[in-house]
Amino acid sequence: MKLTFLGTSDAFGAGGRRQAALFVETRAGGLLLDCAPTTNTALAALGIARDAIDAIALSHFHADHFAGVPSLVLACVWEDRRRRPLLVAGPPGVEQRVLDAAAAIGHPLRDRPLPFALRFQEVGAGAASEVGPARIALFATRHDPESCPHGMAVEADGRRLVYSGDTGWFDELPDRARGADLFVCECNFYEYELPTHLSYRVLHDRRRAFAGGRMLLTHLGSEMADRRGALEIETADDGMAVEV
Ligand SMILES: [Zn+2]
Ligand SMILES: [Zn+2]
Repeated sequence: MKLTFLGTSDAFGAGGRRQAALFVETRAGGLLLDCAPTTNTALAALGIARDAIDAIALSHFHADHFAGVPSLVLACVWEDRRRRPLLVAGPPGVEQRVLDAAAAIGHPLRDRPLPFALRFQEVGAGAASEVGPARIALFATRHDPESCPHGMAVEADGRRLVYSGDTGWFDELPDRARGADLFVCECNFYEYELPTHLSYRVLHDRRRAFAGGRMLLTHLGSEMADRRGALEIETADDGMAVEV
């Protein structure tokens, strides 16, 4: 499994970087984890074909994680002449959330004929489901309830990647990350405290609870942007690729 960070900033583009999205390449196909308004730009900048994406799995319904889906679908139509199906999976309500967002930004997709099948799949928290080329299990996180927040465990090629999505600290977080070959964890702040996001200080203080597996920090806000690469826990950057 190969993971490429398409965007590693917070919701506001701190440090001039792009918003949340991860591209996972497996032997069975490509999977996008989250799809931000900056994701088409990221794919173009990194030379990754949209056609390599079989499925998109969304962690929650905040704009910096899912508002890029309508424009990605339109680019599949107009730029790529796509014919292969595209699956969009996510927490309950995913189809309505994406279609409502598409209508609101002036690119309605509801009942619009497309030259490929656009499918939606709800994934509840708990047991793993087949989502395109991987098996994905969602878990609830501590974040704005309105956004239906989840993290996810992704299994493919015999490897396990856990992605926190957006979350503040909750005591089960290390359990969710246990057994992961790589844990990609949000770290919006360095020391500022919010119940709905994590800070480096909190993660560093509790690092041992994560049992020593590889951890990469993403969703880096302005406090973290300047400290990137100079901290004890590894930080991700736009375009960074790692073998999981
Ligand atoms: Zn976010
Ligand atoms: Zn969020």
